[in-house]
Amino acid sequence: MIAVTGIEELNNLRRKLKGPTGFVPTMGFLHEGHLSLVREARKHNQTVIVSIFVNPAQFGPSEDFQTYPKDIKHDLEILRKEGVDIVFTPSSEEMYPEDYSTWIEVAGLTEKLEGASRPGHFKGVATIVLKLLNITRPDVVYFGQKDAQQAIVIKHLVRDLNVPVNVIVMPTIRQPDGLALSSRNYYLSKEENEAATIIYKSLRLASKLYQNGERSPVKIKQAMTELIRSEPLVTIDDISIALPENLEELDIVNGQALVSLAVWIGKTRLIDNIIL
Ligand code: AMP
Repeated sequence: MIAVTGIEELNNLRRKLKGPTGFVPTMGFLHEGHLSLVREARKHNQTVIVSIFVNPAQFGPSEDFQTYPKDIKHDLEILRKEGVDIVFTPSSEEMYPEDYSTWIEVAGLTEKLEGASRPGHFKGVATIVLKLLNITRPDVVYFGQKDAQQAIVIKHLVRDLNVPVNVIVMPTIRQPDGLALSSRNYYLSKEENEAATIIYKSLRLASKLYQNGERSPVKIKQAMTELIRSEPLVTIDDISIALPENLEELDIVNGQALVSLAVWIGKTRLIDNIIL
């Protein structure tokens, strides 16, 4: 495994690679969710590139950029064990030089859901992903369904800008009690981690109601809200039931629907989703 920090160095390496290349962009502090993407990339490509970069541009001024968990030594160890070929750990200074001024906006999609709670977040995400795709030039790039809106935004960006890459979205990996794995779970106390299981319970409730014939997003959201309110450590930030293609909120569920949830537990914001 080669660890590379410089963009030019990665470009030079990339030029020499032959055969299909799979790429997994991450912010590090890796868990089994990330590794599921890495393993899928390993299965289908000759070369696997993983990036670790906590992208300042996708954090709001009052968000957790400064405190975002890091353990680069451990990350490199587990990526080596997974048979990754290249780990790219660029510096903020090189990614965003002082006069940096080009930004990608996927209009419409990025103001909804997460974008409404985190203005500017997807501008940062779309920009860094396009930059990383330009640098690594993979055949396939892997994302997690855990960040459903991110995956939708990236698919749209890739289509709109004719980026020659195949986007694969992999299922959400969860703890045995249902809580979706996230680097931010590290912020939670044991008690908060237990309380956070209400997130997936409420998504499962939505699924059960739907299976029993409920088609009203208002009623499904009401039931989810009531369940989450039974857990005093958890506060709802947003519940949405929307069309997976364009994130338009639904008046009635009569086809696929993306149920997304964002909650606060103390100072930690967690998201999860399921498709009905
Ligand atoms: P992050 O490091 O949080 O930016 O995540 C890097 C990639 O891993 C993104 O494509 C995420 O959607 C994906 N990911 C994060 N958590 C999970 C999970 N629990 N299951 C599957 N993929 C995940």
